[in-house]
Amino acid sequence: IQFLKVLPKTELHAHLNGCVPLKVLRELAEEAGVPLPVVHKPLTEVHEFFGLFPAIYALTTTPNALRRMTRAVLEGFLDNLDDGGCAYLELRSTPKQTSEMTRKEYMCAVLDEVERYPKDRVAFIASIDRRMDEETATEIVEAAIQLKREGRRIVALDLCGDILAGDVDMFVRVLRKGKEAGLEVTVHIAESAQNTPEETLKLLSIPPGRLGHATFLNEEAIAIVMREKIPVEICLSSNLVCNTVKSLEAHHIRQYLQAGHPIAICTDDTLPFRNSIMTEYALLLAKQPLGLELSQSEVEAVAKLANEARFPS
Ligand code: IMP
Repeated sequence: IQFLKVLPKTELHAHLNGCVPLKVLRELAEEAGVPLPVVHKPLTEVHEFFGLFPAIYALTTTPNALRRMTRAVLEGFLDNLDDGGCAYLELRSTPKQTSEMTRKEYMCAVLDEVERYPKDRVAFIASIDRRMDEETATEIVEAAIQLKREGRRIVALDLCGDILAGDVDMFVRVLRKGKEAGLEVTVHIAESAQNTPEETLKLLSIPPGRLGHATFLNEEAIAIVMREKIPVEICLSSNLVCNTVKSLEAHHIRQYLQAGHPIAICTDDTLPFRNSIMTEYALLLAKQPLGLELSQSEVEAVAKLANEARFPS
């Protein structure tokens, strides 16, 4: 455990609203006078998972609530550096428009909290949700470009959300605009067996600087990812809970470990998956079949790869 606690860990795939500490969510729900959402059954399909989020969003419609939630999430990841925390975090979130704030104001509220930490600890990624139309996606990209120009600590754009939704051609177009303006791009890709190979190739054509999940890449896509050495954000617990991977033994991390391909071990959503960066790294060390049974030096090498896969800020 001590080895894992002090290992410099880099978290590159964590969704803000998926990582709210339960305590903060409870407080916000109590203050709003609404019951907390409860999920009673295990997930069988990955897209069922997205039904969890509207209840959280309803509690963070004001800049103040959003700041409070962001602060708690950052503390959770960053404040216990010598006791299991992350050395570096790229936190992502989908800017929402509410009656109290615009999407740009949402990003500013999150950035205000991010920028309370030194530059070498944390940066922000703006997510585009696959359920968005072109106008909304463009609004986010343009606001992100502006914020970057103003010197705010935003490093990249992400494509996330319901894996079955959206017009991928449009997202490729919009994300390329961000890339041309100097923002990095990461995309959730081939997260489900239902994502087609055509869609995957389109997303790879952006080209993204990193990939989220990349669970169902076909041979052609794997060849591109390996050739271009595109780092893959690996979310072990998330894949197991969402049932996109049956066991760690069958997990696609194995092919990347074998090839020495760049990967980053990530939590995805600590609230529903009840994980932490420590527990994800513990899965690497644990004996099979519970874990991947890597040696300490192999785990150190993985942590180093994650650190090298940060986006420059
Ligand atoms: P937010 O972007 O801060 O609102 O974080 C929650 C959002 O992240 C969800 O509504 C989803 O759109 C997205 N998200 C969280 N986990 C996943 C995932 O595993 N795949 C795709 N999108 C995800």
